[in-house]
Amino acid sequence: MNDYMRPATLDEALALLPGSGAGILAGGTDLFAATDRRRLPGRVLDLGGIAELRGVRAVAGGTIIGACTSWDEIARDDTLPPALRALRSAAREVGGWQVQTRGTIAGNLCNASPAADGVPPLLVLDAEVMLRGPAGTRQVALGAFITGPRRTSRAPDEIVTGIFLPRSALGGRSAFLKLGARAHLVISIAMVAVRLEVAEGWIARAAVAVGACSAVARRLPAVEAALLGATPSAAPGRVDRADVAAALEPIDDIRASGAYRAEAAGELVARAVADALEQTP
Ligand SMILES: Cc1cc2nc3c(=O)[nH]c(=O)nc-3n(C[C@H](O)[C@H](O)[C@H](O)COP(=O)(O)OP(=O)(O)OC[C@H]3O[C@@H](n4cnc5c(N)ncnc54)[C@H](O)[C@@H]3O)c2cc1C
Repeated sequence: MNDYMRPATLDEALALLPGSGAGILAGGTDLFAATDRRRLPGRVLDLGGIAELRGVRAVAGGTIIGACTSWDEIARDDTLPPALRALRSAAREVGGWQVQTRGTIAGNLCNASPAADGVPPLLVLDAEVMLRGPAGTRQVALGAFITGPRRTSRAPDEIVTGIFLPRSALGGRSAFLKLGARAHLVISIAMVAVRLEVAEGWIARAAVAVGACSAVARRLPAVEAALLGATPSAAPGRVDRADVAAALEPIDDIRASGAYRAEAAGELVARAVADALEQTP
């Protein structure tokens, strides 16, 4: 067995991985950023040659985004419904263009950084992570897949094959806002995704998620509940900053204090609600 393996099919990858001790490589943008070596140590299973892991496709009950779909592919896909506008906006915020063309959606989730920009827009879509391994296939809600900073419930011999978005969460309009120390090429201080469904002039469904303000990005059920039944013009005013802050556990770090993060998150949620509702339904 070679130290560098680049299978052409998922079946081949699944046959090579168990017991190999290999680390999985997708775009490499997180893996190489974490080492100062010119090549990755140990065995590597490169998923980059597996065409079936790329692209977005409709399936019974929803939509699947292939694990190795790059951020650039997501950002450019103007066939995606307005509910995925938040995800497409986040895609354009993941590093610069070079990182967006290499970095993949599954890599962002498996790396499980608290500041991973892909997580809040997927949480508001009720995303489920699809995994395959020797024991078969399974699907885990994204909120249960990421178990802590840099920790997931993926077993070492499992490969993430895609992200499933249930049809029930593909309605409505969405928005993503990210706050960093500068406008571009920056790690988030806080980021927010919102998806809202308006029926007969009222907000009928609301999903709000905040990242970089707790160990794992999270949905904000109290904030969502307060938005239900509001008219679009009244909705931003229904965002209670205290509810937002109470749902988060932001830390002090080199980028911002916890107090600043909590305050910023409240403002971002209100702005994201307004931004989502300004779109033509
Ligand atoms: C300069 C720079 C700027 C960046 N800016 C941002 C930013 O603004 N926002 C942000 O969120 N991220 C940012 N990142 C991080 C990174 O680009 C993203 O997290 C990207 O989506 C990672 O994807 P990848 O394919 O490159 O992952 P890789 O580096 O290939 O892998 C990351 C981890 O996921 C595992 N993995 C990957 N795919 C699978 C799979 N299918 N099944 C199982 N395990 C898998 C790998 O084993 C590894 O542990 C930046 C990185 C760089 C270098």
